[in-house]
Amino acid sequence: SLTGKDLHLAFGSNRVLRGIDLHVESGTTASVIGPSGSGKSTLLRVLNRLIEPDRGDVLLDGRSVLKDNPDELRRRIGMVFQQFNLFPHKTVLENVALALRKLRKMPADEAEESALAQLDLVGLKHKAQVRPGNLSGGQQQRVAIARALAMGPEVMFFDEATSALDPELVKGVLALMADLAAAGMTMVVVTHEMGFSRNVSDTVTFMDGGVVVESGPPAAIFDDPRTPRLHSFLSDVL
Ligand code: ATP
Ligand code: MG
Repeated sequence: SLTGKDLHLAFGSNRVLRGIDLHVESGTTASVIGPSGSGKSTLLRVLNRLIEPDRGDVLLDGRSVLKDNPDELRRRIGMVFQQFNLFPHKTVLENVALALRKLRKMPADEAEESALAQLDLVGLKHKAQVRPGNLSGGQQQRVAIARALAMGPEVMFFDEATSALDPELVKGVLALMADLAAAGMTMVVVTHEMGFSRNVSDTVTFMDGGVVVESGPPAAIFDDPRTPRLHSFLSDVL
């Protein structure tokens, strides 16, 4: 399980996280929704220690990770962003294999074999030898997902993974994310895709102004919002 406890973070006088609590059981998917600027991306960055919180704790399987080695933690949490951040001059296979060689110190042949297996899983084994520029945005995002999965993470974070995609490409990436969720991956998904949040995630957390305003199962959040803030957010986005 992954737990964020009373997380606080300020950028100067801008208090971006004001005491966030989040708990994700192993094998479940938590979606995080909320307006622009509410602190969703910052929360993910604090949870995997790209940024140190001013206060609070992050626990993986009940153990605080704030004292652990941050590199080790980032190996245990895979991250997929809106921009795919693939290396344009390397092949798809090299993009996936690189981190295995550099970060996991795998021998080249083993890294390639493992990378190919991951590409097969996302349906892109046949594109192993091409460069990312020759793929659609949806395919590039699936490569980025394969790259994160290749590291064998315990938890996967997605930050608006489909926001940069043309509408017709969104479905394929969401379907892959839904497959991962169904396969029992533990996931935290920041998304504007309310269909995914409602139909795939086990819990929904609604953030606004750096606090969790409401969280619960999708039915409670979408069909029975308790606060005016969630009510008005949903009427804006649905
Ligand atoms: P969006 O839906 O637009 O992606 P978000 O909920 O992910 O929004 P964040 O990116 O977490 O929002 O930003 C929350 C607040 O923190 C914003 O006011 C933003 O300007 C501020 N912020 C984020 N990153 C930094 C940074 N590195 N330095 C200073 N301020 C930052
Ligand atoms: Mg964001």
